[in-house]
Amino acid sequence: MANPIYTALPTTIFTVMSGLAREHDAINLGQGFPDEPGPLAIRRHAAEAVLNGDNQYPPMAGLPELRQAAARHYGRLQNLDLDWKTEVTVTSGATEALACAFLGLIEPGDEVVIFAPAYDSYAPMIRRAGGVPVIVRLQPPHWRFTRVDLENAFTPRTRLVVLNSPMNPTATVCPDEDLTLLAQFCVRYDVTAICDDVWEHVTFAAAPFRPLMAVPGMRERTVKIGSAGKMFALTGWRIGFLIAAPALTDALAKAHQFLTFTTPPNLQSAVAWGLDNSAAWFSAMPADLAVSRDRLAGALTDEGFAVLPSQATYFLNVDLAASGVAEDDMAFCLRAVEETGVAAIPISAFYETDPVTSIIRLCFAKLDETLDEGARRLAQARDASPRR
Ligand code: GLN
Repeated sequence: MANPIYTALPTTIFTVMSGLAREHDAINLGQGFPDEPGPLAIRRHAAEAVLNGDNQYPPMAGLPELRQAAARHYGRLQNLDLDWKTEVTVTSGATEALACAFLGLIEPGDEVVIFAPAYDSYAPMIRRAGGVPVIVRLQPPHWRFTRVDLENAFTPRTRLVVLNSPMNPTATVCPDEDLTLLAQFCVRYDVTAICDDVWEHVTFAAAPFRPLMAVPGMRERTVKIGSAGKMFALTGWRIGFLIAAPALTDALAKAHQFLTFTTPPNLQSAVAWGLDNSAAWFSAMPADLAVSRDRLAGALTDEGFAVLPSQATYFLNVDLAASGVAEDDMAFCLRAVEETGVAAIPISAFYETDPVTSIIRLCFAKLDETLDEGARRLAQARDASPRR
């Protein structure tokens, strides 16, 4: 018999919507991946490493050159002082890194605080690791938690809290005062924070991203998760980072050794090169994406849609109710992909209970003509929908 936790799970909304987009030959503004192929020089390094590099098992924790480059990178950009030998582990994508954190750090019955809308892998993987997700429900337009939310969620049984900032799907960055508040609760309840920081470089604010790990009291009690896929717009590469103090890293690496054991060495060495040679990319990439965000936001606003602000990520959210649509997000998304040929992600898929049902998420990491046509087709779907 299959494990009921798994058989009861839906297929991820990203896979479902990309499948429907293919089936209906639709414009895909759903699953978050860029149209562009990613930096050529980094791809060339990977190709070179496949042809002339070592293609046998790399070290379990990752190539030293990549772990060193990651430590330097976070030192430069986020002022973190990391020991690459004891504090950096390379995983096969951030999704594996999250699984390592849950498997390596949860004991049966431990409570894990997560914020909804929550990325869809969190709760099922927490449960599979024996944990109990405790969900704090956030709401538009600000999607912020309060002191009362944390007082209600944290208990003496809380072992972990998962913070995703910048947050998918809300496209918000956790403000400093909220980081400080969360850190106070982590210290008071002796809780470790799992920081899904994969969008850390895809932010549009002038101020650099501040990781929770850098907040006083958090250095030793944070697992920071990074993603080369998001750093370099190479989402299929599956190179993730687990950054944590040595005692935590020891447990994380034990989980990693039995999940994927290692990660393709050629891609690791290309990412190592990329981290040290991409200063221009790290400023151009978010600047270009901000132009795409503004293009999609402008086209949607011209069509009469109510658009929520996007501070980070590849995503822009539309408030259907405020745009005159009486349908819920899932019904609208299914109709839009089937009838007018444009795929989006319903935000309700990121809630297990009491979902917010009037917001859809659109990926703007696309070519201008794709964005323009996507906005036009969304307007067609809106015009054919039940009106408020
Ligand atoms: N992170 C991507 C998104 O939010 C999806 C990744 C996936 O398909 N699992 O769209």
